[in-house]
Amino acid sequence: MRNDATMNEQQKAVCERLETIRANIAAACRQAGRTPDSVSLMAVTKTVDPLLINTACDEGVLLLGENRVQEFLSKREAYRPEASVQFIGHLQTNKVKQIIDKVSMIQSVDSLHLAAEIHKQAEKCGIVMPILLEVNIGGEESKSGVSPDELPQLTEDVLKLTGVKLCGLMTIPPPAPEVSAQDAVFEKMQALFEKMQSVCRMDTLSMGMSGDYESAVRHGATVVRIGSALFGARYYPPKKEQ
Ligand SMILES: *Cc1c(COP(=O)(O)O)cnc(C)c1O
Repeated sequence: MRNDATMNEQQKAVCERLETIRANIAAACRQAGRTPDSVSLMAVTKTVDPLLINTACDEGVLLLGENRVQEFLSKREAYRPEASVQFIGHLQTNKVKQIIDKVSMIQSVDSLHLAAEIHKQAEKCGIVMPILLEVNIGGEESKSGVSPDELPQLTEDVLKLTGVKLCGLMTIPPPAPEVSAQDAVFEKMQALFEKMQSVCRMDTLSMGMSGDYESAVRHGATVVRIGSALFGARYYPPKKEQ
């Protein structure tokens, strides 16, 4: 681990947490008979100071995940240019054009309506946007994502859009404190991912966050999206009273 004298305590903490996360991913890979380089670590940046995001980049984390269009647009100039940014949050169709030329993938596509807008804006820019379809694997009412039942139809429809390239699936499972429950959900997602290969060849399975990434890796995740375990607890400033 680097312990550069010019780093502040928060930056040093990021380096230490990163070392732990990488060791945990490597251990989960060993358990599953996978090589550690088959899993990409994405740093989820919401509420995080660009200084700390760049610390992670300097330690080799070159994949960033953004949730909010406005926050991303206000911070992106400060990021290391070599970082690749993917959008992972709920995306309103009217905001697609603000990010289409600034991200390398949109992971959170859960409707044909959104996919069609991405296709349209991508064609305008002369690009093809890689996307993932977001699956609501836990069947929660409140969550975004398409149900496993609706996935084959959405996949077929999306495959007709030339401005997008379908690369795989993404999911945010319901919180499950028990490892056995985490395993059960990720197992379901892994089975769905394998089943979908007959409809479309996909190579990306984005699942696993701070509390459950080891379980996700044991079940075939190719990207884990990690925020608080890397950067510390998120701080949301209290809203000022008017
Ligand atoms: C915030 C967020 C994460 C990271 O959450 P942590 O629990 O802090 O690791 C991952 N994926 C999505 C879609 C998120 O919004």
